[in-house]
Amino acid sequence: MGRIAYVNGRYRDLADAQVHVEDRGFQFADAVYEYWSVMDGRLADADGHLDRLERSLSELRIPPPMSRAALLGVLHETIRRNRIGDGSLYLQISRGKARRDHPFPPPGTRPTVVAIARPADYGVMDERAEAGVGVLTQPDIRWGRCDIKTVGLLPNVLAKQAAREAGSLEAWLVDKDGYVTEGSSTNAWIVDGEGRLKTRDVNANILRGVTRLGIIDLARELQLAVVEEPFTVAEAKAAKEAFFTASSAFLTPVVQIDGEPVADGRPGPVSVRLRALYQQRARKEAR
Ligand code: PLP
Repeated sequence: MGRIAYVNGRYRDLADAQVHVEDRGFQFADAVYEYWSVMDGRLADADGHLDRLERSLSELRIPPPMSRAALLGVLHETIRRNRIGDGSLYLQISRGKARRDHPFPPPGTRPTVVAIARPADYGVMDERAEAGVGVLTQPDIRWGRCDIKTVGLLPNVLAKQAAREAGSLEAWLVDKDGYVTEGSSTNAWIVDGEGRLKTRDVNANILRGVTRLGIIDLARELQLAVVEEPFTVAEAKAAKEAFFTASSAFLTPVVQIDGEPVADGRPGPVSVRLRALYQQRARKEAR
């Protein structure tokens, strides 16, 4: 069976699924997206992502294309038609198709909605997490509204590519004051010398990661101290543990930063424990 994509009300073979060349997502990156991990055919952190999607749309004044319930129906149907057990679901909503011109198109222009599902082997991700991964620091050259999940990801793409060319899995972005903002597609964390979990506070400079929130909740339930404040690259290199979080990676331990080992160069106990508990909970609560 081939893969199926949802495009503007229709389910089509992926090979035939198309949007117009004058779609504003294509021409201006005038579009937002969400990405869920799919566990047992259900969406992990379903509501956290829908909440953030609604916020992204509202910040950009893109009208919601349908009700939340209808959208959830589309996402579930896309998963079902692709027979996904474990995998991912990508949703993109652009401001729609219009003659190329910078101002918003006329009211009534219909947003373009695309959903794509893909199977994944979480065993491979688990193996990677068990070994731990490396990150490469890169200057954060993004715009001033990184809290909106837009498809304008060129700086993220360039940073990730630089990381891969250096043999690292992820790039950690660093602001002009030397503080880590987040990863190119993940939120960045350390466990500091006092055993506190540290991740950057939410402002316009980072994405409000749904996994980040889940880990904060979980850590607090486990009576672990969490501080939401910036940390420098030097602090990260001297940390007891480091890791990143994202729907695409859950919690992944970082064992190398710019080629230098973090602590003993192996995933630390806090990271390992939180990863396991987070995944169990996400699977149980997926819907
Ligand atoms: N930061 C950035 C820049 C991202 O692109 C992502 C995910 O795509 C994240 C953080 C993690 O967010 P979430 O946990 O909601 O997947």
